[in-house]
Amino acid sequence: MLSLTIREVSLALREGRISPTELCRKCLHRIRKTQHLNAYITVTEELALKQAQEAESRLLQGAPKGPLDGIPFAVKDNFCTENIKTTCASRMLQDYKPPYNATVVQKLLEQGAVLMGKTNMDEFAMGAGSTDGAFGPVRNPWSYAAPYRDQMRTEPDSDWVVTGGSSGGSAAAVASLTSFLALGSDTGGSTRNPGALCGVVALKPTYGLVSRHGLIPLVNSMDVPGIMTRSVSDAATVLGVLQGLDVRDSTTVPSPSSPPELPEDFDVKNICLGIPKEYHAPGLSQETLAQWSRVADMFERAGARVEQVSLPHTQHSIVCYHVLCHAEVASNMARFDGLQYGHRSEVDRSTEAMYASTRHEGFNDVVRGRILSGNYFLLRQNYQHYFVKAQQVRRLIADDFERVFRSGVDALLTPATLADAARYADFTQEDNRTRSAQEDVFTQPVNMAGLPAVSVPTALSSRGLPIGLQLIGPALQDRKLLAVAQWMERRVGFPSISDHGDSSERRSDTGVTKREQTSAV
Ligand code: GLN
Repeated sequence: MLSLTIREVSLALREGRISPTELCRKCLHRIRKTQHLNAYITVTEELALKQAQEAESRLLQGAPKGPLDGIPFAVKDNFCTENIKTTCASRMLQDYKPPYNATVVQKLLEQGAVLMGKTNMDEFAMGAGSTDGAFGPVRNPWSYAAPYRDQMRTEPDSDWVVTGGSSGGSAAAVASLTSFLALGSDTGGSTRNPGALCGVVALKPTYGLVSRHGLIPLVNSMDVPGIMTRSVSDAATVLGVLQGLDVRDSTTVPSPSSPPELPEDFDVKNICLGIPKEYHAPGLSQETLAQWSRVADMFERAGARVEQVSLPHTQHSIVCYHVLCHAEVASNMARFDGLQYGHRSEVDRSTEAMYASTRHEGFNDVVRGRILSGNYFLLRQNYQHYFVKAQQVRRLIADDFERVFRSGVDALLTPATLADAARYADFTQEDNRTRSAQEDVFTQPVNMAGLPAVSVPTALSSRGLPIGLQLIGPALQDRKLLAVAQWMERRVGFPSISDHGDSSERRSDTGVTKREQTSAV
């Protein structure tokens, strides 16, 4: 039951094959069994059971609210949840309980979805591994699945692989079958990257299509709530619920009028797929490259036009993202001063000393580093040279995409990550900041251009770990993009983790770092 898609489990609920409370209990049980993954920072057990009971009475009366009624979901811990801890995986906000729900959370609750908990992440969503949060790293469920585990020479505790990030907890929650849907955030790839590495579908909608109200900002001009599910069609259903104008986010746009369901008979004969030549990036693994070619061939054989295209400014995207991101981080993080929210240092020699030590104690070194360099880029003598220049380069990057789409390309097919997931031991040896910069080469340009993109798992690598590919589309063509993605999903034959047994549940409990799962209500 737990490995079904939303569409399938929603049918099972309506037909009475399972009740919302039973489903919720099963998910809670599985959350306990997979605690070693460290996917959740807070498990909202009591609230979930209460919401499930409410869904149950609606279903018994034959009046479900919609396709999400009674469906367990998880939320990244940078979305505000009313009276439920929202930490951004930072000591700065470790006890923070917002007084309101983010619009996306509110919309899911209004549809009857059942909140299981808040998921682990990189601190303030800065990172690409989910290794940099204040509550410890997230483990990739595929580390414990047969295809990988059976090849390992040592115990899983030394060889487990990372989830990618920064929404690693959300990806792990969907992949390890504790939630049917999870919200991530995507500023430079944080939904698509862990989605690809954990073998789940991960959608970054067009900027402005889904409200950011209540998403604690990283880079306001690039942040988008992301959707993680087990199928492309589920992602479309959830997008249908989340999208649309929000008076609390002035950057939102009205929903397009297209119907929520994806066409079953989508024909790729009429589409043109672009392969950006600059995405043959250094560090791209042979296996990911092979998947990229295999899937491109698949489209071609089915009659799609597949063309090589050029996005010449791709090479500047990492540096450009770096400047813009750090500059926005510097101003966004200024609100955490120990006065209004979150951690406040005991140091009280002077107001300045209190600010300084609050920020020193509250933020990890990744966040502090970005604040420092961001403020440097914004200094009066540097502003033109760095910030304004980066804005200009960002425009060139966006123009590259626009030119390609205007020439008749419907979607771009690219890798989602350089390779399959790295062992934690290897990932953390390198400087995480360098790593995250390299890993985001396929995803960041999309955020700078505000376009929709989705990563779809396509195969297991020879190590037994997921590889995903990304499709990028023109602004506000999210639904057409998902139709192409669904066509691809149905042909690539990606296995479900449940085909490999109940594998992300732990067999022995040795060496687990036990951290108390807290109930927020
Ligand atoms: N890895 C990128 C960064 O660290 C992207 C983060 C994100 O999308 N939230 O900035």
